[in-house]
Amino acid sequence: MERMAESAWLTFHCETGKQARVATFRHTGGEWQLAEVSADALPEGGTIPGRITKTGPFGIASDYTGCPGCGADSYVRCGECGEMCCWRTSTSHHTCPGCGNHGQVSGRIRSAEAMDVA
Ligand SMILES: [Zn+2]
Ligand SMILES: [Zn+2]
Repeated sequence: MERMAESAWLTFHCETGKQARVATFRHTGGEWQLAEVSADALPEGGTIPGRITKTGPFGIASDYTGCPGCGADSYVRCGECGEMCCWRTSTSHHTCPGCGNHGQVSGRIRSAEAMDVA
């Protein structure tokens, strides 16, 4: 019997419009893979469920089609505020939409705060 892949939901800061969206991650092959980013932004002042820490590594699902908001094909975790943000692999630098931190993209994401929706 095949077990359903475990999922986690994280807030995701879109490059465009500085809107927060919800990203769905699936635990596949020993890593958390980004599978989908919500088309709708989180409602302003909406309640965020409790948070749980998910340990990585983090990757991207092979069928991820990009962010519906800005079209970015990947993502980074800001080293300053720890938020997940849209990122294009065509650039080596990133400016965090959450806190404005600007830096070079390096390394892999090892852990993240996921929303506890279970
Ligand atoms: Zn985006
Ligand atoms: Zn930041």
